[in-house]
Amino acid sequence: MDNEFDLIARYFSRPAPQGFLGVGDDCALLPVTAGQHLATSTDLLIEGRHFFSDADPQALGHKSLAVNLSDLAAMGARPSACLLGLSLPSVDHQWLAGFAAGFYALADQAQCPLVGGDTTRSASGIVISVTVMGQVDKRLALRRDAAQAGDDIWITGSLGAADIALKLLHRKLPMDGDLLAATRPALERPLPPWQFAQGLPGLAHAALDISDGLLQDLGHILKASACGAELQFGAVPVHQEVQGLGPATVLQAVLAGGDVYELCFTAPADRRAAIQQLADANGQRVSRIGRIVSEPGLRVWAEDGSPITLDAGGYDHFS
Ligand code: ADP
Ligand code: MG
Repeated sequence: MDNEFDLIARYFSRPAPQGFLGVGDDCALLPVTAGQHLATSTDLLIEGRHFFSDADPQALGHKSLAVNLSDLAAMGARPSACLLGLSLPSVDHQWLAGFAAGFYALADQAQCPLVGGDTTRSASGIVISVTVMGQVDKRLALRRDAAQAGDDIWITGSLGAADIALKLLHRKLPMDGDLLAATRPALERPLPPWQFAQGLPGLAHAALDISDGLLQDLGHILKASACGAELQFGAVPVHQEVQGLGPATVLQAVLAGGDVYELCFTAPADRRAAIQQLADANGQRVSRIGRIVSEPGLRVWAEDGSPITLDAGGYDHFS
């Protein structure tokens, strides 16, 4: 027992929706719509690097799909289906059951069925690789190179919590059980705005998800679009539990903290009402935090009008 086929049959063989060929054949087959691009993205999560060895398997199942749904949302794409590659050092049924439960719960919620994957034994440590596929209108995908001078800069949700949770867990902040409990869901169970994002093509120009920190990620849009930005720090929504911390800690967490999985997008000023309406219809918080300008560079202003500088631009995996 417990060979690869038993594991797939037991944990990863839920039926695919009508019109799909799911797990069990050499390839999955999915319907595609005329006039749409296939949007696809993949992310690796490695034990000890992206998650702690004792991480709750259910949260891990959730997060491994969530980070990929975030990439689809960042293009304005609607999820179609996903693939799961799993490399495991040993067979732990409790872990597998928890992981599958967390994964499928989010897949169901986002209507992103699991239609295939690969399962192997690893030499050491767990490796999780998820690939998502989605669809987006050919002309309206939210590319990083599409920002224009005069665009508003928006973000979804609030910032800071995931970074504080990570710092608490890494003992870079003095342990505070209440603060950890309040910020941990943002780190371990992010809910990217996949529903709201599907309404953005046609309203927004450029978008990306804030996986490496607001300043660093916004910098990618500025570079690709050959423009600059002015940000009002006072307009950036700070997670409620983070607001009371020291100003330097808040600044760092909000501007440079990664692992956020909210969207930053740009849109012409005449779309403000339509964007707010889209947000309200989806119960999505959105905030307008600045604007795109033609002069290169990213300038952040404090509420008193003084410039804010920050040395660490974000999280770089090779630094
Ligand atoms: P192949 O030999 O063609 O690679 P496998 O024996 O690896 O096929 O997998 C059998 C079936 O199970 C395939 O349809 C594959 O997509 C699916 N599968 C394997 N691992 C997973 C997984 N972790 N999650 C979902 N589907 C999986
Ligand atoms: Mg295989």
